[in-house]
Amino acid sequence: MGSKKTLSIIKPDAVKSKYHGNIVDFLENKGFKILAHKKLKLSKPQAEAFYEIHKERPFYNDLVDFMISGEVVAQVLEAENAVLYYREVMGDTNPEKAENDTIRKLYGRNIQCNAVHGSDSDENASKEISFFFSKLELIN
Ligand code: ADP
Ligand code: MG
Repeated sequence: MGSKKTLSIIKPDAVKSKYHGNIVDFLENKGFKILAHKKLKLSKPQAEAFYEIHKERPFYNDLVDFMISGEVVAQVLEAENAVLYYREVMGDTNPEKAENDTIRKLYGRNIQCNAVHGSDSDENASKEISFFFSKLELIN
């Protein structure tokens, strides 16, 4: 059984398009409990550190610039097998390939501006949650 928590980020494209409220509704309708939630603007060093694992990939610099282009909403989501379940609810990285009734299909624009981030493993979920939130900020 996987971890019950994952880290979500509503990305700048979706916040600018005012999809934030729709995405919160969507998540709650899919059964997630939101344990923590905050809006913030990442600095360049913060975005670089968050996406450090992608440093060698060709899209890294563009991704960092995109993630600092506006406000984001970071959330801790709770559900059974949260990491895998949220990957399913988000849909494919490329919104064109995402299944119907997924966040990226509904609200993503393209492979970069794809509305949301979700952790890809329990280990990374734990690291990413600590990146944005202290223990005190999480409902337990
Ligand atoms: P995911 O977010 O689905 O886990 P990755 O971890 O592979 O996908 O990539 C991280 C983020 O980098 C993506 O969500 C997207 O914003 C961006 N990205 C991924 N692949 C590309 C690409 N080929 N071109 C531009 N941006 C990309
Ligand atoms: Mg990823």
